[in-house]
Parts: sequence; C-alpha cells; structure tokens
Amino acid sequence: MSVNELGQSVGKLSGVGAQTLHRLEKLGIRVISDLIFHLPLRYEDRTRVYSIDSLKNGMTALISGRVEFVDVLPRGRKSLVCNIADDTGTITLKFFHFNAHQLNVLKPGNLICCFGEVRQNFSGLEMLHPDYRIVMNQDADITESRLTPVYPLTEGITQNALRKLVKQALLLCNLNPKLLTDWLPEKLLSQHNYPTLAVAINILHAPDEMISADALQSGSVPALKRLAFEELLAHHLRLRVNRNKARQWQAPCFSADNQQEVVAQFLKSLPFSLTGAQQRVINEISADCIAPQPMMRLVQGDVGSGKTVVSAYAALLALSAGYQVAVMAPTELLAEQHMRNFSVWFADFNTQVVFLSGQVKGKARKEVLQGLEAGTVGIIIGTHALFQESVNFKRLGLIIIDEQHRFGVNQRMALREKGQQDNRRPHQLVMTATPIPRTLAMLQYSDLDVSIIDELPPGRKPIVTSVIPAERRAEVVERINSWVEKGRQVYWVCTLIEESEVLECEAAEKTAELLTVALPKVRVALIHGRMKSADKELVMQAFKNHQVDLLVATTVIEVGVDVPNAGLMVIENPERLGLSQLHQLRGRVGRGDSDSYCLLMYQTPLSDVARQRLGILRDSNDGFVIAEKDLELRGPGEVLGTRQTGAINFRVADLVRDADLLDTIHEIAEEIFINSPQVIQPLCDRWLGASTDYAEV
Ligand code: ADP
Ligand code: MG
Repeated sequence: MSVNELGQSVGKLSGVGAQTLHRLEKLGIRVISDLIFHLPLRYEDRTRVYSIDSLKNGMTALISGRVEFVDVLPRGRKSLVCNIADDTGTITLKFFHFNAHQLNVLKPGNLICCFGEVRQNFSGLEMLHPDYRIVMNQDADITESRLTPVYPLTEGITQNALRKLVKQALLLCNLNPKLLTDWLPEKLLSQHNYPTLAVAINILHAPDEMISADALQSGSVPALKRLAFEELLAHHLRLRVNRNKARQWQAPCFSADNQQEVVAQFLKSLPFSLTGAQQRVINEISADCIAPQPMMRLVQGDVGSGKTVVSAYAALLALSAGYQVAVMAPTELLAEQHMRNFSVWFADFNTQVVFLSGQVKGKARKEVLQGLEAGTVGIIIGTHALFQESVNFKRLGLIIIDEQHRFGVNQRMALREKGQQDNRRPHQLVMTATPIPRTLAMLQYSDLDVSIIDELPPGRKPIVTSVIPAERRAEVVERINSWVEKGRQVYWVCTLIEESEVLECEAAEKTAELLTVALPKVRVALIHGRMKSADKELVMQAFKNHQVDLLVATTVIEVGVDVPNAGLMVIENPERLGLSQLHQLRGRVGRGDSDSYCLLMYQTPLSDVARQRLGILRDSNDGFVIAEKDLELRGPGEVLGTRQTGAINFRVADLVRDADLLDTIHEIAEEIFINSPQVIQPLCDRWLGASTDYAEV
C-alpha cells in the first residue's frame, strides 16, 4: 500500500526548503496532514471595504483610498507617515520600520487598499503598520470572499507563507477527497448535525462570509464543534484502550486465612470508628484486591476526609497475604507523616516499616534497599526516590500513591514497572484531595475506577474564612496573640509565585523574624522546603507536641500535615494561588472538633476576578464546588496546576467552551468500541500522535 499523500513530509510542498521544514517542526508540523489540522487562532474580516468616515477607534477594517501625502518624520523615532483619502475622509498610515521600496510604492496619486487596526487620537484617525497593497485598476474588487485565517506562527514563518502552505494542503485533499478519512460514524454526524471532516476543515481554514468571526471565536460553529468533539473523543478512547490493556495483566490475590482476624484487630486499634463513606470505599478496595486483574483505583476525598487510614487498610490486606507495599507521597513532609502513622498502625506486625527519600544516604540507604530485596521490609514509605533504579522489591503487591496529581505520569509508571513480574502487576491505589471537576475527570481518569469519600469524620465544623486586606495586618497579629493565650496553635503561610522556592523561603524567614519580635510571648518556629529533612521533622514534631505555638511556613505544608490543635491559619497573598491549592492549605485547620478560622490576607488593590475567586473560597468549604467554580473563572490548566505534568494540551477543544460535548462522550465511546473498533487507532493517531501512554496511571 502506498503512503497516503497526506502522510508525506511537508517538504513535498512547493516553497518548503530545509530551513522552513525545520521551522515548521517547531509548530508540530511535519507531514501534510499536520497542516490540515493546524487551525487558525482567529480570523480577519476583509470581505467588505469600509468608508473612512465609518471607521471607529479599535476597529480592524479594510479600506481603500488615494495617497495624498507621504513623508519621513525625523522627530523622535524616525517614522514614515502617509495620508490616504477616499470620498468620505482621510486617515494617516504610520510605519516605524520601512524601506526605500515602500517610499516608492506609497507615492501621491497611487491607489492603495489597506487592512489594519484603527486608532483615533487627537490629530485624527490612524493605522499603525497596516497590511497594504497598490491597486492598479480602480474597478478591481479588493475584497476577499472568505474570512482570512490567522494561524499560530513561529519565528521565520510569516502568516502569508503559512496561508499558502495550508492552501496547497487543502487543494490536495479537495482534489482527492478519499485522502482525508472521516473516522466518525455517519450516524453520529447526522445525529449531531455535524459536517463531514472535509467540509469542516475547509470551513475552518476559509470560512465564507455567512459565518461571522464572532461565532467562530465562541465555538458555536458546527464545524468547530465537530473537530473539538473528535479531539475529546480521541483522548477519551485512548484512556479506555489503556484501561482495557491494563486488564490483561494478572494480579496478586490478597486472600489469607487469618485475614478477618487481622482486619478486626486493626480496626480495634484505631482511636475512632470509620465513617460510612470510608467503610464503603474499603469494601470496594477489598473486592478489587481479590480480583484476577490489578486494581487501578482512584480514591477522591476532600481534605480531611480520612484517606490515609483507607490506604492503610489496603496495605493490611497486602501484608497479610505476604506482599510488600510501597507508599509514595509528593513531599518529604507528608511522607514523614505517613511514616509516623504507618509505624504505629503496623507496630504489632512481624515486619519492618521503612522510609526512603533523597536524603536517606550511605549505610542507612543500603540497609533499606537490602531489606526490600530480601523481603524483610513489608512497607516502604517515601518520596519519588522510591522509583529510582537501585530500588528493587522481592514481592511488591500494592502501590499507594498519595496526592497523585502532584506526580508526573512517568513517575507513576516507573513505580508500577518495578512490581511487574512475568504477566503480573501490582495493585494500584491512588489518592487525591483535589476534586477533579466532572468534565476533566472524563479525560484524565476514565481509565481508573473511582471511589469517593463524600463524608467527613463526625464533629468537624466548617472553617470560617475571612478575606482581609494586608493593611489590617496589625489586627491579625493581635488576634494570634489572644488565640495562643487560649492554648491554641496557628499557621502563618507565606506564599510566592511557585517557581521561586528560594524567594518563598526567604519571605518566610523574614516573616518569622518579624512575628517573633511582634509576639514576644508566642513560641514561633519556621518550616520551609529548603531545610534539611531532619530539621523539618524536628520542627513538625515540636509543633505536634505543642512546644511551638505559631508555625510560619511556605506552601510545603499544603498537603497532608495534620495537627488538630492548630485552628487558625493566616495565608498571605492568597490571590497568587489557585483556589484548589488554597482549599488544600486551608484544610490544615478544621481537623479537630473545635472552631477554626482561615484569614486570607491579600495585597491591595485586588482585581475583580481575584476578588470573586477569594469570595468563592470564603463562601464554600466544599472542594468540589470550589474546583468547578475555579474552572469557570480560570480554565482547566490552572485548576489542575502547572505541576501537573500529565495535563493535556488540546489543539482545538477548550474544556470550558466545549464542556457540553463531554456529556455524550462516554456513551458514544461505548458504541464505537462495539460497532466500529477499527476507527479507534486512527482517531488516536490523528489527535494524539505518538504520545501513547501519556495518561496511563
Ligand atoms: P486526608 O483525607 O486529608 O488525607 P487524613 O487521612 O489525614 O485526611 O485524616 C485527617 C484526620 O482525620 C486524621 O487526624 C485522621 O486520624 C482523622 N480521621 C480519619 N478517619 C477518621 C474517622 N473515621 N473518625 C475520626 N477521625 C478520623
Ligand atoms: Mg492525606
């Protein structure tokens, strides 16, 4: 079979040399069909000519007129100015970059047409650097019959060059319609009134005047909907395929004769009884762990809902069946806390619970690794250090990943491969407190089974949140004083833009100094990400033991930290963080049964959006509501956080604009699996290219 022409290198098109080839690659354009799916960012309307007297400030318009005057102004920045006039008025064109050729063309008396943005200033109307050309024949039609596409560019490729290339590619398709296969079933197209792929593509690259640029922007045009839908469908199908593949593996079976006894004893040793939601999720996990395929389960539960003990239960099942367990957490602080909890819970077991992070070195590290290989270690808890090459297990049966959204996809996969033996893979339990809005879950987690802990332990009171300007700092400091006098503890969180951990730590150090001076009776301590692990541990332990009243911290305490007596949290510059992250941070308080408070202390002035966002947090304690609202206000990338290495970049779809499309995707995917499985692979290839396993957890 010969290669489909659209699959050939763009080098086959005329005008594409080695250099252009290289530049196009930066735009992700390698083969001809990449050009076809390189869709415009926006459109320009050159379908009508505006009279000069109808122009208004801010309009982008096509005009035509005669050159009346041209001159180079030496004042200030050298510029070329040129007045043109039609029957209704005059306008000035201004160029800061120009050449001799331009001076030649813009001669008084010449007829030109130009396209650009109109500015109205005190001296009249002007256009800066408009597109323009000479019109030879007064009667020539200078309008375009279609909207002009504006493509995403890269250095060295001009808009016009790209337009020409796309035209060539479209011509190929249109000459031979068979080249561009429409993988969506016909029935689906007619049900949704979607145009065929070829029609949709032609419309989007060169919309006719019936379609307004606004409609294209808002995404209401069926051609655009259809492509967005196809793209979302491809992502969803890929996850389902992954899921099916994962089902083909065998899994260890966690059944043991004495299991019931062990479980009863474990539950008795807990200082509380499980909530109904915890019990339900535990049952779901138990069922997975005796099934022949590996468990792939996501436990989602709001901050403080008690996920840790649920994961410990799963660990118990693995241990009692003679398997090893790996527990991975995104921060050292959180891993250390799990270490404390698991050490207590599994103290009576005839096994070792060990800790591993980048900071465990030398002899200690060697012992941990040997214990793992020999099988004397039953549970290993740590950070991403767990999936380094030197770490080998004897019988890994269960992987627990806490706060999984903080890990990159590759990190998760590396750990899973460690447990792989012959055709067997360990069970996997991943946990997250970041509630994923339904729309995102459809594309991020449709390869996982999801359990939701939708109930908080009894007696928790909602956290009272206030939004206050930094000018009231003195009041806040006074409030800390009286709070500490009552025997309660406080967090003070210094936030900075995430990329600069150094600056964030410096800010925290400084704040700790200032607060120590301002609050002489209060025992202040500091914790941040650049401290040594042992030092952090000491500080946390002191805070837990109430030898410290006020803990000044960076966002390192965002996940996991659990000190119920700390019931007041001050967050500085909350406007810089995502709402879900703030909700997580705030979740450090409200862990006991007494009142708790969170003060969001912002820098003035606050933008309208920022004010609205903080208002959402003040008015709700429900992580799910918060994430949904944040998604509406900020878009998916922000909600998932920039750290989410697995976040998806869509080519056409926009998760906020196209959210409604997701309603039917599950059902349609189901139907495709049954009736037209042959389209799955090509659809995924078209939209996802080679990024095969990107979301396989
Ligand atoms: P998260 O879901 O945020 O990880 P944790 O597992 O850290 O929550 O639990 C938060 C706190 O609630 C811990 O102090 C834990 O011991 C406690 N806890 C968990 N389950 C219950 C329960 N059923 N009843 C009372 N307290 C509980
Ligand atoms: Mg937790």
